Amino acid sequence: MTIELDRPYSPERHHSHRDVTGGWLRPAVFGAMDGLVSNFALIAGVVGAAGAGRGAVLAGFAGLIAGACSMAAGEYTSVKSQTELMRAEIAVERRELARDPEGELAELTAIYRARGLDADLAARVAAGLSADPEQALRVHVREELGVDPDDLPSPYVAAGSSFCAFAAGAVVPLAPFLFGASGLAMALVLSLVALFVFGAAVARMTARPWWLGGLRQLALGAGAAAVTFGLGHLLGVTVS
Ligand SMILES: [Zn+2]
Repeated sequence: MTIELDRPYSPERHHSHRDVTGGWLRPAVFGAMDGLVSNFALIAGVVGAAGAGRGAVLAGFAGLIAGACSMAAGEYTSVKSQTELMRAEIAVERRELARDPEGELAELTAIYRARGLDADLAARVAAGLSADPEQALRVHVREELGVDPDDLPSPYVAAGSSFCAFAAGAVVPLAPFLFGASGLAMALVLSLVALFVFGAAVARMTARPWWLGGLRQLALGAGAAAVTFGLGHLLGVTVS
């Protein structure tokens, strides 16, 4: 195998990959879909029970706020505990590097040996990366914990973005009532269109055809709303 060292790295010549982690877009789309499906179903349930009046608007508002807060709180707790765990493990690694640099160097050498480098090269790479203590810590953390210590996720950003994502989805079935709609028809149409769009957007991040993803999401969301509408209707008949 020959390596052309004089050829500069060029992103155009390099083959491209899908962004497999999805970055911020994936959780945002899933959060919005969550808000849409749950608030659509909630409003349908109230309309089924009591008709489309003030109750439906109030329920939709309460559903939006409660759902968005719950998503934000859950996301905050999840990311916070994850980063705390990572920080604790990074501290362990830092202590270990200070206490036993020889042993840590041997450990790093063994990692590169396991990756397929020969003993001599593995030792040289490990020694080179261990020269600077901060660099050594970053390398150990990346190799052993699989995280970038300079790029740990922020629980506040996670909480804020899931709040906004959920609210953005939840406002869709609520919007027609805010503009004075007196029936479920407009909310139904808007929600079904949004379900299809979100489903198609999620499918675009995978290898599935977009229209299949859109239709599937539409069917799931419509099913959820139909169930709550039916139950709401039964309940409304029983209660009144
Ligand atoms: Zn280590």
